[in-house]
Amino acid sequence: MTQAGVPHGSREGGWLPDLVYTGEKFESGLAFFADATGRITRFSREPADLATARRLEGQAALPGLVNAHSHAWHRALRGRAESLDRALAGLGEEEVFDTARMVFLEMLTAGITCVGEFHFLHARPDGSPWPEPHHLAAEIIRAAHEVGVRIALLNTACDLAAPARCRQAGADAWVRETEALGRAVEKNYPADEVWIGAGVHTLGALPPDQLKVIAGHARAQRLRLHAHVPAAAAGRTPLAELAELGLLDKRFTAVDAGQLGDEDVKLLGAARALLCACPTGSLAAGQGVAPVEKLIAAGAGVALGTDTHARTDLIGEARLLELFQRAATGRHSVLAVPALFHAATVGGARSLGATGGALEVGRPADFFTVNLHDPSIAGADASSLLAAIVFGFERRAIRDVWIGGRQRLAAGRHVMHGPIIGRFSDGQKKLWA
Ligand SMILES: [Zn+2]
Repeated sequence: MTQAGVPHGSREGGWLPDLVYTGEKFESGLAFFADATGRITRFSREPADLATARRLEGQAALPGLVNAHSHAWHRALRGRAESLDRALAGLGEEEVFDTARMVFLEMLTAGITCVGEFHFLHARPDGSPWPEPHHLAAEIIRAAHEVGVRIALLNTACDLAAPARCRQAGADAWVRETEALGRAVEKNYPADEVWIGAGVHTLGALPPDQLKVIAGHARAQRLRLHAHVPAAAAGRTPLAELAELGLLDKRFTAVDAGQLGDEDVKLLGAARALLCACPTGSLAAGQGVAPVEKLIAAGAGVALGTDTHARTDLIGEARLLELFQRAATGRHSVLAVPALFHAATVGGARSLGATGGALEVGRPADFFTVNLHDPSIAGADASSLLAAIVFGFERRAIRDVWIGGRQRLAAGRHVMHGPIIGRFSDGQKKLWA
């Protein structure tokens, strides 16, 4: 049912929007083409190419956004943040699948084409393990696959203070489960569509010997490692502990981390690691937003995440990140607009080890289009459009989304739009009855 951008039997398909974002700027009169595997093969201004490309009239194309930090099941709690225990007790396997599908669809409508799922809902509602310990991870992956978004499933270890549903039986069990999940993923999905990574729910909360096993496994297997980094108590910070173990490297992403001190900024920068900012989540929790300007100056990367899905809007996170920095510093500009968009795309792709993030030859044709006649961005030209989008646009302006050259959203709708929302809404009625 999904419209294919690359017709069967054809070697190549192409698109010609009014404007296309090529990394530094928007360009007009430029078509781009992808091969049958969905990879971008070339850009062209040749009249013959412009004539054969699919014309995207009145639209601008931008690289798909990469959401580096999501807890999909938290979408079931939107508007009910105080009811965490009830959700933990009520979300069975079907509800987890339906909720994940809902939030991944919502991501598509926000221009997100790739997500890092920080997965720590491991057990059954009563806290006992599933026969297949990574069952819920597999359900979340299945949901992403059905919607069509790329997913890095970050299998996340929690400490013993976490609710029973979120715990695994120690670091060795985590390694076994991560390996088993990796094998299942490899067998069932293309490597650039679904892959696994590692997560530590709260850095500093896991006993050091367990942290060493988990971070060591991530290092040995070249997996991305993500961790929430809480405010440090007095003394050595959790990041310093990771660095002392020799396990802080460029594949590490610190999540949230609103209270990073100068020493931690230096550590992340020296390791060429990343920070994933989740401004909505941080501000809602009454915390600050990480010092991104200092981090970039120190050599660290910056990504963005929607975290608990109080809102699922990555451009909105970029906007909030900048506005919060301005309020905190009293300056009129902190990060330039391209740097904010970079965090929502290239930074996220780096954080997750994803193939997308930019419209470039060799990368997948993952992109979204905006309607240039939408009231929120109408009148913008090539020089003002990115700023108009980052600061002014409404999600309604997003029209089409293509992933690997396949159309996943057409005029704001997914081929399973109604059923996905219907199933989720029914589950919500049951859960909160
Ligand atoms: Zn989080």
